[in-house]
This record gives sequence, C-alpha cells and structure tokens, in this order.
Amino acid sequence: MVLVRFLKRTRRPLKPECNKVVILGLDGLSPHLVEKYWANGDLPNLKKLADTGTYHRMKTTTPGVSPVAWSSFQTGVNPGKHGIFDFLSADRKRYLAVLSSVKTKTFSKKNFLGIRKTKVSSTLLRMSKPFWSLLGRYGIRSTVLRVPITYPPEPLDGRLLSGMCVPDLRGTQGSYTVMAPEGTEHSFTGGIACTLSKHEKGRWKASLPGPDDCDPADIVFHKESGGRWTVRSGGEKLKVNTDELSEWLTVTYMAGRTKVRGIARFRISEGPFVYCTALHVDPSSPVVPLSHPVHYSRYLAGAVGQFATLGLAEDTWALSNGHLDEKSFLNMAWAYYRERKKMFTDALSRGKDGLTVCVFDTSDRIQHMFWGSGTEPGSVIHGMYLEMDRLVGETVDRMKNNHRLVVMSDHGFTSFHTCIDFNRWLVNNGFMVLEKGITTVDESFHGVNWSETRAYAMGLSGINLNIRGREGKGIVEPENAETLMKEIKDRLLALEDGGTKVIRSVKFARDIYSGGYTDRSPDIIPGTDTGYRADWGCVTGGVGANTLYPNLRHWNGDHCHDSDLVKGVLFTSWKHTTESPSIVDVAPTVLSMLGVEPPGYMDGRTL
Ligand SMILES: [Zn+2]
Repeated sequence: MVLVRFLKRTRRPLKPECNKVVILGLDGLSPHLVEKYWANGDLPNLKKLADTGTYHRMKTTTPGVSPVAWSSFQTGVNPGKHGIFDFLSADRKRYLAVLSSVKTKTFSKKNFLGIRKTKVSSTLLRMSKPFWSLLGRYGIRSTVLRVPITYPPEPLDGRLLSGMCVPDLRGTQGSYTVMAPEGTEHSFTGGIACTLSKHEKGRWKASLPGPDDCDPADIVFHKESGGRWTVRSGGEKLKVNTDELSEWLTVTYMAGRTKVRGIARFRISEGPFVYCTALHVDPSSPVVPLSHPVHYSRYLAGAVGQFATLGLAEDTWALSNGHLDEKSFLNMAWAYYRERKKMFTDALSRGKDGLTVCVFDTSDRIQHMFWGSGTEPGSVIHGMYLEMDRLVGETVDRMKNNHRLVVMSDHGFTSFHTCIDFNRWLVNNGFMVLEKGITTVDESFHGVNWSETRAYAMGLSGINLNIRGREGKGIVEPENAETLMKEIKDRLLALEDGGTKVIRSVKFARDIYSGGYTDRSPDIIPGTDTGYRADWGCVTGGVGANTLYPNLRHWNGDHCHDSDLVKGVLFTSWKHTTESPSIVDVAPTVLSMLGVEPPGYMDGRTL
C-alpha cells in the first residue's frame, strides 16, 4: 500500500516553475574567453544574461570531450552510468579502437521474393535515459536538435534530429573526396581520391564512390565563361564560381533497385582540382533514420532547405590536409551554422510548451582549427564569439515571461602545441614491448608483443592494463593491477618537457566513476596540462618514434586535457545560488523546472 502511494506520488509531476525551457548548447564555448571578452565590453547579450540570471564556469566530465560530456548532459549521470568514456572505446579482446557510442552490424536477409539483401543495423551504446524521455512520460513534449550521441535516434514524445556520430553515405564518420586529372599524387587521411577524366566538349567527369554495394555516381563538371562551373549528377545540377563552396547537390546511387541519396558540396579550383564534401545522408530521403519521427528530417529539409546531416560535418581533415583553404573551411562552417540556426528558429516558433534543445558545433570546430591564430579582437575566434553572442540575444528576444533559458557549453578550450605519444612512453618505460625488429607501429598495435606488454593506450585519454582474462592476450594478474597503476601514475606525473610538467593529473576509473558500465572505461585517465594532448597515432593503437613532438597541424586548439582546465560555461535566465555547478546538474534542473521529480539515480543536483 505504501509502495502504491509512493508510486502514485512520484507519478505526479511537481508544480512546474515555467511552461517552457530552451537550452542553447554552444559546443566548446570557453569561460576564459567569455570573461576576457567581457573585460573589453564585448558579448553584451551574454553579459546581460549573466547579470539578470546566473553565470558560472561549469564542471565538465573526465575527460572533457563532447561525447562524454553531452552524454552526461542528457542523462544527468556520470560516465560510469552512461558508458561513454571517449570518442573511441577499446575492444579488449582484439585490441582495436571502436566507436564508443554506436555499434553497427551488417547482415544479409532474404526479402519476400527470397532475394538476399545486405542490411545494416545500428545500436546506440549510450546507456541510461535522456531526460527528455522522462518528460515524455508526463506528456511534456521536446524538440531536440543535434545533441551529440543521439544516433541512432531514440523514440521520444516530440521530435529529435541526431547529431555527432551520424555516419556519411559510405558508413564512415566523414570521408571527403578529391578529384584531379590522372597523374596527381594523393596520400592522405580522412578522405579518398578519384580521377577526373576529360569528357566531351571540354567537360570533366569523375566517378564518385558511394556506399559499398553501389556503383559510383557520375559527376560532370563544365566550365563556363566568367570562371563559373556547372556540376551535374543524374538529373541534378548546380552552378558555382571557381574557388567557392557550392550549395548542396543531390547524388543518387542504386542499391539493386533501391535509390540511395546523398548530398554533397563542391569546390572547384584551377587544374581542375575538385574538393567534394563527405556524402551526407540526404535528409529529405534518408537511407538511415536521422530523426524521430523518421519524417522529421524530411520536414526540416522542406522548411529550411537541404542541410548537413553528418555528425562531424565541418571538414577539419580537408583543412588539415590542405584540400580546403581557411576561407572555404570557414564558409562551410558558417553555412552549416546558418542551416542549424534556421532549424532552431523553426523549433522555437513552432514548439509551444515543453523543451527545446539545440547544439551548435560551430564554436568547437572553429576553435579547434584557429586556436593557433590567436583569440584577440579581430581574430576568427573573436568573431565567432561575437556571432554566438548575437545568437544568444536573438534567442532571448524570443523568450516569454513563463519561459526559461539555459546557455551552456560541454567543455572549454585551450592550446594544443605538443603531442604526447602515450604508447611510445609506455614502450620507453618498459610497460609495453614491441616484437623484435619493430620500432614503430602505424595502428591497431600491429607488432606489439602482448606476452610481455602490461599496458596500452587507446583513445584520446586512456591507458588500459593488459589484464589476464579480460584482454585477449592479457598477462597482468588482477591482484597486481593496483601496484602497476600506481607505478604508471607516479612515472607519468614525473614526465617533463624541458622542465615543464606535461601531466597535471592521473585518475583511476574506479575512483572517479560509479555505475554499472565503469568497466567499459580505460583503467587510467591521464589529464594533460595546457598545450599537451594525446598524439594522433596512439589514439588508434599506433606507436611513434618520439614521446613528445610538436603539433604542426591546423588542429591546434583542444580540450582533451585535465578536465579542470577546460570547464564549460553555464548561463541560466533565472537566479540560483548553487556554487560550482556541474554538467550533470542540467538534467535534474530542467526536469524540476518543468514539474517532474528528478529520478534518484541521477548524479546531478537541481540548481
Ligand atoms: Zn564538445
């Protein structure tokens, strides 16, 4: 009887404090820069929001990277309960780095005619529940736009468009294409090359590879007078000026009798040399579900035009590889920003009561790629903060008296000038052993002697012990793990770069995480100091020649450091007195605002 009463009581929402909560997520917005720009009198809208409501630097997750932090945002729990600890997680049996948030299975199935067809199924690996699913139990509707780690889309009472980790048409997390006449040398990461051949009447043609089971699609380029090009594929065409990024072109592939549609943008330079974005899944005819309900992405394409659907849409690889220049990269980033803004505006004007969430990635990508150019007034980064502030101002203008606004980032930003190869460090310190004759490893630990290896690094911030019974070829007895972890910790903390400390903290998973999925985490989480980040190779099981070396890439800002160095921002349109809020506090707070009791398993507090 007590239980029934209890259930009845918890089933009834609390008295709501408002009719609607809007959450504007600005990925990677740094409190240090916000406060610095305030000192110059910039960012008036954020300042006003802080003055009339509350502003804090917000504690992020460990590590402070988007998949982990946004998962804690949406669930209100620590990573031990949602199971996302990095972009990548370790397949411990095979020593392989796999995407942490989505598991994709390919299988063949007979259709009703008895014909075998290849099918792909994807499962979201983020555990626990997003708080909007709890709102739905009380009939409170949500519109959720591009929150990372929402692919594949889960059902909810409302509408959701998936964000980070949505694949492209080739099934990758984003592979672009360069097209050039035969004889041009290409070797690069992040994309593929194909040949541009002379076609009739001065036209050029390329066969653009799409999904595995489809023939490539023909793309024809025709130069007209005045430096303008026509790009055609199937019955679709568009026009674009030389060296400018085009609008979206629909590219159709055939999988048997089924049409598979992608969309891509092109940039054509003299040569000709063509850059083609990753083939984004066409939102108006999605081959994989991008939204809930499935037709929501189609609705959005109708309402705002075609839009980028790939999780990591801004092509940072192409800029790093020199296949896009800074101007085109920024044009792309801002084009995607405008698409997102239109969707957000549409959601704000249509959605009545309930929850509206939208995450903008622009702030993260621009800081990753332009940190090295500085943050002073007049810099690209400064300009981006001014635009984010205008967006905040426009959002505030749309709010009514009984609405509440949250503006937040998942983490901040800092510099990344030096790479640290954790696997090389493990080899040099005797924790990892390579086979005889092997000096460096490209990826996937090929050439590692597992029978003598006690630890290996994988992902952006994790070291795993090679535990007997857990790893495929484990040798460390579980009872010896503790001593080994302490030894690694002490030696990492002593690591210096010409007198400068490299590692600010070393945490053990069992001390900082709690919950049923803690065993998915790396055992040791090193927190690097400002300027230092895991090198590109060791993330996927490579072992380079040097432990420390300069990061010469365009990607020179980052946030995969000790998480205290990269706190995010939290603005609320109402006043609260909670000191040092954390990203896990947002979910219970919004639930309470809308009259729903936060569940006891949530780690966050109500602000
Ligand atoms: Zn982020």
